[in-house]
Amino acid sequence: MMTVADMGYKEFTAYLEKVFNITLGDVKKIIKAFHSEMKKGLSGFESSLKMIPSFVERPTGRESGKFFALDLGGTNLRLLAVELDGKGASNVSTVSKFVIPPKTMTGAGDELFDFIAECISSFLTESNIDKEKNYDLAFTFSFPVEQTNIAAGKLIAWTKGFTASGVEGKDVIMLLNEALKRKGINCIRIAALANDTVGTLAAKCYNDRDCDMGVILGTGTNACYPEKISNIKKWRGLDPRGEMIINMEWGNFNKLRFTSYDKDVDDESLNTGCQYLEKMVSGMYLGEVTRKIIRDYIHRGLLFTNADSNAFIKKDSFLTEDMSLIASDESTDCALIDEFLKKSGLTEVTIHGKMTLKNICRITSVRAARISAAAISAVIKWTDPKLKNNHTIGVDGSLFEKYPGFSGAMLDVFKILFKEKASKIKLELAKDGSGKGAAIIAAIAATAGTSS
Ligand code: ADP
Ligand code: MG
Repeated sequence: MMTVADMGYKEFTAYLEKVFNITLGDVKKIIKAFHSEMKKGLSGFESSLKMIPSFVERPTGRESGKFFALDLGGTNLRLLAVELDGKGASNVSTVSKFVIPPKTMTGAGDELFDFIAECISSFLTESNIDKEKNYDLAFTFSFPVEQTNIAAGKLIAWTKGFTASGVEGKDVIMLLNEALKRKGINCIRIAALANDTVGTLAAKCYNDRDCDMGVILGTGTNACYPEKISNIKKWRGLDPRGEMIINMEWGNFNKLRFTSYDKDVDDESLNTGCQYLEKMVSGMYLGEVTRKIIRDYIHRGLLFTNADSNAFIKKDSFLTEDMSLIASDESTDCALIDEFLKKSGLTEVTIHGKMTLKNICRITSVRAARISAAAISAVIKWTDPKLKNNHTIGVDGSLFEKYPGFSGAMLDVFKILFKEKASKIKLELAKDGSGKGAAIIAAIAATAGTSS
């Protein structure tokens, strides 16, 4: 029998298609495993899904006021001024975007929070904010946090390449307040702590009552949904008739079929053994999984044979953004791909080589889209087993927004799985949802009078 080692181009490509394929059977297996992990997580048993209560329910659409939102996603830090009109419209009046320097992500925790305070200070100045007045700010902190009330929560563990020291186990609102004090910023009151998924759900829900899920497909991936309090078995003493939004932390789901490439990416990551689903799906890792396959083709002498054999040899030298560009090239002469390769120092790549590159990107991105769709299907089936209702899924994140064909590949899964009922599911981009939604959560906190 032929081993993987001595496969030719055709056999190797067919082998990859097979190991990366997510069949209908796989989708069903993922759904079943999700339900089992969800149940354990909600009951407080060991599970790869933490199922974290968020202390908020869905907004009514009547929340109003002006709020600032600070959105720390993973790659970017955004500051927004959001106005809620109380009738379902949320307007972002100003946005400032800052890139988090890699050194700040992995240095001392205090430096990270000082950097955030510095960004807040620039935002206040750039937007001509009167520092004599007081403002409520909602902090979207998109990492697993054990929340203790609407405006307090401890970081459980860093993800997405962050390792800043002295933050795990600490209340991130307290750390931010201390940094604001160090910087002499007195006009900001932190009214709410929100996860980006919860923000996204709140933002979409504000004007669409069918919205019952918030999903992130950006640097990382995660989701939340409203759960009946009676199902949150690990919680006692709450009104069992109500609902609470649950932050699933689904990036950590681990009942998935890992390939050798996924294993390598995991081994070389800063959080080995964690966030398996995230590493197979999200923007931070998709380029890297793909790069591993490209390298395997090169190593086998099946790609770029008359070009530089060291192409893409460095970790993280091939990005999900590059995949997007390659996937967007519909031309017969692969002009865009050519331009990209030339920029990467690769000349004289054959059309066959360019098509191979495009095909590898398709294989890994379709797998990512199908796994995300399977995970969404699991949540829909959990809350509405017979698919009686409409479901709007609010999605935020550049991977979903910008990757050509990503949402289409997700919808294909719904069609195969739910057949004609798939039309009840809508995937909608909730642009800046995580920031806008945080403002809505701050408004909920303000009306409930529960914020500190
Ligand atoms: P965050 O996750 O930090 O809130 P985004 O939602 O903007 O921010 O996601 C940024 C991530 O999305 C990047 O790290 C990258 O992996 C991915 N990304 C950025 N641009 C594109 C693109 N054009 N196509 C696909 N993925 C992209
Ligand atoms: Mg984000």
